[in-house]
Amino acid sequence: MDDTASKQKTFKDLGLIPEVLKVVEYLGYKKPTKIQENSIPVALQKKDIIGIAQTGSGKTASFLLPMIQHLLNVKEKNRAFYCIIIEPTRELAAQVVEVLDEIGKALPGLMSCLLVGGMDVMKQSIQLAKRPHVIVGTPGRIVYHIKNTKGVEESIQKVKFLVIDEADKLLEMDFANEIDYLIEKLPSQRTTMLFSATMSTKVEKLQRASLTHPVKIKEEEQKYQTVDTLRQEYCFIPFKYRDGYLLSILKETEGKSIIIFTMKCSGCTKLVMMLRQLGYAAIPLHGKMSQQKRLIALEKFKSGKRGILVATDVASRGLDIPNVDIVINYDCPLEPKDYIHRVGRTARAGKSGYAITLVTQYSIELYQRIETMIEKKLNEYKVNEKEAIAYSQKANDAMRIVSQQLKEEAQKKKEKLQKGQKKLNEEEDNDE
Ligand code: AMP
Repeated sequence: MDDTASKQKTFKDLGLIPEVLKVVEYLGYKKPTKIQENSIPVALQKKDIIGIAQTGSGKTASFLLPMIQHLLNVKEKNRAFYCIIIEPTRELAAQVVEVLDEIGKALPGLMSCLLVGGMDVMKQSIQLAKRPHVIVGTPGRIVYHIKNTKGVEESIQKVKFLVIDEADKLLEMDFANEIDYLIEKLPSQRTTMLFSATMSTKVEKLQRASLTHPVKIKEEEQKYQTVDTLRQEYCFIPFKYRDGYLLSILKETEGKSIIIFTMKCSGCTKLVMMLRQLGYAAIPLHGKMSQQKRLIALEKFKSGKRGILVATDVASRGLDIPNVDIVINYDCPLEPKDYIHRVGRTARAGKSGYAITLVTQYSIELYQRIETMIEKKLNEYKVNEKEAIAYSQKANDAMRIVSQQLKEEAQKKKEKLQKGQKKLNEEEDNDE
């Protein structure tokens, strides 16, 4: 055992009480991750924290565990509305509630409430009336309830713990006004933890507005790093044969759980339809799907019912999808930092993983920006070119069928719309 290993702390060393250690054991965590080791003792002292942490670093437990410990230290009757956790997307919020539900199995009585858009407002109001201990949500819907649901504005005066997660993403998504509103409504006597993958001027401004004398915890020295257990390769291909190359890679990686990233929602849908046409169990996850459908898609992928998830960047941040063996970048990400988030879906928490990026004549520059950012020259993934070109024919045939299906669907929609308009016109005529 080397020196660093012998110095590695246990969860008990961090100051967690037996009830919370039981939770840790239930979650199956043996040793704290770096961000947990550094932030839990500070948060237990009720100091504000700004954490710069990579996706997959274990940051969820680094705020949930100390928060739970503080919660357990207050009387049962004072536990309502103890903590608010703000997340940038519905999926991330749902995921934190999932971890809280797991924790609840080891700590019966823990009550949490999910407040996100796209879900029934009435049901959320009923849940709020039950006085949950922890509220997890997206900024818009949390603010909606403060403004419109009876008693919420008063109840949040009890909040003692605020978590602003993925702050850079929250600000990128223009949630600054909602966050400012919320901070203004919350009592100033509270502990606040703010996490961000990157530190921008906007994040600094938010930090100044929301934190008091914060302790800065940085997970890694380098801003954008990929973990060493991740094997990363690129595959240089002619654009017109891209689908054939993808099929060739999928043949080589059969039986693995795979996420394929596309740039646009429409591209995501088409690719899923093409793969299904060819017998692959693929499922889409993109921003134009309803919340319910997104959660169902994630669930099917997580449970292994579907082996291939085709996703846009909506899914690339922070989502906890265990057992992803391979990430394939079908489209190069426009922003190099999105590459980190995408490939962060594999090789999580010390496991090994594999990422392949398809690079065409049109995306060389985007790809070079990625290599510059991660400060690594990647190896080339070797494909049997003849086989890939032969597969392109199969892919083209399938795509032709898909285009036909989409055209028919669009036509049906148009006819339905025309019928509706005709009916309206007739009603108008009868009125006159
Ligand atoms: P997060 O960055 O919070 O999304 O966590 C990434 C993954 O690491 C999740 O699957 C967690 O369940 C897992 N995880 C978090 N902390 C630990 C730990 N101390 N030991 C092992 N796995 C962990």
